[in-house]
Amino acid sequence: MFSKILIANRGEIACRIIRTARKMGVKTVAVYSDADARSLHVEMADEAVHIGPSPASESYLRGDKIIEAAKQTGAQAIHPGYGFLSENPDFVDAVTSAGLVFIGPSAASIRAMGLKDAAKRLMEKAGVPVVPGYHGEAQEIVVLASKAREIGYPVLIKARAGGGGKGMRRVDNPDDFPEALSGARREAKAAFGDDRVLVEKYVDKPRHIECQVFGDNFGNVVHLFERDCSAQRRHQKVIEEAPAPGMTAEMRDAMTDAAVKAAKAISYSGAGTIEFIVDASDGLRPDRFWFMEMNTRLQVEHPVTEMVAGVDLVEWQLRIAAGEKLPASQGDLEITGHAFEARIYAEDPAKDFLPATGTLRHLRFSDASLDGSSMRVETGVRQGDAISPYYDPMIAKLVVHGADRQSALSALSDALENSEIAGSTTNIGFLAALAHDPDFIAGDVDTDLIARKQDTLVKGEVPGVEIIAQALLAASGASHVAQSSDPWDLAIGYSHFHPIWRRATVRFGGEETVGTVRQRHDGRFEVRPAGSDSSVVISADHLYRKAAWPGHVTIFANGSAFGFTTVDPFAKAAEAEGAQASMRAPMPGMVKLVRAAKGDHVTKGQPLLVLEAMKMEHTIAAQHDGTIAEIAAEGAQVDDGTVLVRFEETAT
Ligand code: ADP
Repeated sequence: MFSKILIANRGEIACRIIRTARKMGVKTVAVYSDADARSLHVEMADEAVHIGPSPASESYLRGDKIIEAAKQTGAQAIHPGYGFLSENPDFVDAVTSAGLVFIGPSAASIRAMGLKDAAKRLMEKAGVPVVPGYHGEAQEIVVLASKAREIGYPVLIKARAGGGGKGMRRVDNPDDFPEALSGARREAKAAFGDDRVLVEKYVDKPRHIECQVFGDNFGNVVHLFERDCSAQRRHQKVIEEAPAPGMTAEMRDAMTDAAVKAAKAISYSGAGTIEFIVDASDGLRPDRFWFMEMNTRLQVEHPVTEMVAGVDLVEWQLRIAAGEKLPASQGDLEITGHAFEARIYAEDPAKDFLPATGTLRHLRFSDASLDGSSMRVETGVRQGDAISPYYDPMIAKLVVHGADRQSALSALSDALENSEIAGSTTNIGFLAALAHDPDFIAGDVDTDLIARKQDTLVKGEVPGVEIIAQALLAASGASHVAQSSDPWDLAIGYSHFHPIWRRATVRFGGEETVGTVRQRHDGRFEVRPAGSDSSVVISADHLYRKAAWPGHVTIFANGSAFGFTTVDPFAKAAEAEGAQASMRAPMPGMVKLVRAAKGDHVTKGQPLLVLEAMKMEHTIAAQHDGTIAEIAAEGAQVDDGTVLVRFEETAT
């Protein structure tokens, strides 16, 4: 076994790898960028080497600096995690030529599976079923459009270099094909530097079921069953589970056989995943699944497999890279119980899952496990850390295991509802709603479920009167005062003899509520929103959990976090001016397309420009009707908060 390894990654996966290495007595070296100087993975590793500025292209993607760091610290092997350099065969070659071990497959295996089109051709030859479609060399729009017609609409355009759902467009009819193609190409070019695409049949009622495979350097390959990753938004997984609901022995045999065949076709070594798309319009049928792609690395969702198979996949990776044989044979492996993983992201489901940034002012994960279930939190952040715009905005993965699907799902709901995150918008409320969705509960999940039910799943984030009252109470400082033993606190206005009303103002999503708060003789609080003659009475032992810092209070209730701005009445006047007159960039990025010009009269909801940020395109639509006074230029680089569109002042 190695005595020291370097982890060429960051965040939760770097921390995850460090934990296993430590358990095995292997020392670890972390690498970090400027933005990560004080991050958790750096703190956890035995040593850490700074490799460059914050943008990944100048740090985590700099193979040369990473190899240099490994040599300098005496690490014998490099674990790439997922993302970044994990599927870059040139990096593998460089690692090997530097006399180090790459903890993963050979460069040749990665190359064979690296491009979706070539991989499909290879799999077809190996006898693995592939999705009907065009994965040839031609890229002319006329050829692609006629192939699409032959395949039959709906079709899916995919970047051949694709990953993470980028550069992918579903097209329902021929008229939309040209626009979808150019969008897919732009996104693919930006994300992968390769704008070539393939066209596939869009599978009906698609389910994403993937098989975990593992190979060693002696020609052995085993599978560790399947994971169902059909719960997706924008083609990206949000909740994964194992085993797949409704899986039959016949279907599992067919899928895992194909997966092992695929891995053997490329003499695969290490952890890999064969992703299949399944047509579930008629249940799970062994003749209705097709190879989509192979991920030649550890997957984000690998913990669900670990939970049901009772193995540590990172340990397996290290053992195999160190030249050992597979730790188990196929016959030794079996599934016990059921596991779910939910990915908590800093993102705004209400804004079409736009990635968010922010400082995690408050971070607490549920530590409660329901009867017989167990839970694991995989995270790379601590309270006080920032989610920066530079990297993937994932905050944590909650992984639960139960005796069966139902108990695992209750444990998941419970874990989500009892997690508290403030300081950034997150998708926790959305994940909890998904875990409660009747189709999800029934295991009837296809990849379009979230998009179809987006309105119901994303709704429910508007605070009711009870929550607003709790926010007003927190903003007034009254609950703090009541719980304080400092006589000065008591002196500022709360007395059992002369209850004094205090004013507070809170704002939620542009909606402002002014209210008055007092503590009554019986010790309970009375909150009265302005203009209302009824009040909400709250007793001291019914205060909701909250996180507060200057100018802000977040109330945690019903599994959601409601972030309120607390308004200083003096700052208000200054802010009101111009608030409605301009639209600002929600995150740093680049203006890709501008669809309106100065002087145009636009209506609410009309797309004005496309912002490319975090390698994805985000359409910015008018928030209200108005005439454009100024609009950002195409190609402009913008920061978080930069004015993108300014409207002409309207006479009121
Ligand atoms: P990426 O590498 O960008 O993640 P994939 O090829 O793995 O792209 O596909 C991502 C997701 O897109 C799949 O999980 C599935 O939900 C959907 N998808 C892919 N191919 C098809 C298809 N032919 N029909 C329907 N949905 C598909």
